[in-house]
Amino acid sequence: MSDDNDRLDLHVHTTFSDGDMTPQEVVREAKRLGLAGVAITDHDEVAGVDAAMEAAGSGFEVVPGVELSTSDGKSDIHILGYLIDTKSEELRKCLDLFRDARRTRGIRMVERLQKMGVDIEVGAVLDRAGGGSVGRPHIAATLVENGAVDSVEAAFKKYIGFHSPAYVAKYQLKPSDAFRLIRETGGVGGMAHPGSTRRDDLITDFIAEGMRAIEVYHPKHSQGDIARYRRLAEKLGLVVTGGSDSHGIRNAKLHIGAHTVPGSTVELLKKARSY
Ligand SMILES: [Zn+2]
Ligand SMILES: [Zn+2]
Repeated sequence: MSDDNDRLDLHVHTTFSDGDMTPQEVVREAKRLGLAGVAITDHDEVAGVDAAMEAAGSGFEVVPGVELSTSDGKSDIHILGYLIDTKSEELRKCLDLFRDARRTRGIRMVERLQKMGVDIEVGAVLDRAGGGSVGRPHIAATLVENGAVDSVEAAFKKYIGFHSPAYVAKYQLKPSDAFRLIRETGGVGGMAHPGSTRRDDLITDFIAEGMRAIEVYHPKHSQGDIARYRRLAEKLGLVVTGGSDSHGIRNAKLHIGAHTVPGSTVELLKKARSY
């Protein structure tokens, strides 16, 4: 069990989403930095958790996690799920569905472009995504490479930006669905980096929908944000979480361990689960 001298980074991405370190590399690096544990929180994916747990061995805690992309129709809202059962069939099925929906969305945009007479192949876009989720940046980069436009900005403006002719809307989970899914798979849901979304107006509703934690420590948060969300967490009885949101070594500012929380946080999350 962890104590408060132990520090954990509860927000780390791996190669299973858009990070550039494998789960094994994340564990190795976190140990080297003297951390007591990490939460693996890949975007809409949990497969990296098992790999990290295997690599961790004893004396290092890997908290199973996920970062779900949701939208309330106005803002993109990221929701962190901790202590989820990563073996849950329901969870895996749901995550597969999102990935398929995203993949299909990319293909549909390419088909629209082809109908417009633009030179672009589905295979080239899928290759660029490297087996991961197909996003508009992959399509834009392919359009630039093919000479259909001069720049990524032009690709968005002319073809795939919101309101542009080849745009296809994204399938998005609602925050309430994310909180339910996390709860049903034994986990605790929390709002990720609320300071970047600035939708504090939603917090009361989120608590009614099952939110029990809030990310207070995050590289995008100012000292003011940290103080505000700490107060809010205390007032509303939410578990304070935090982490580096590291995506690997590309961005030194977001390095593993840049933001941490005490070991007791995991115990608080475990308690919050039984509400
Ligand atoms: Zn996020
Ligand atoms: Zn993240």
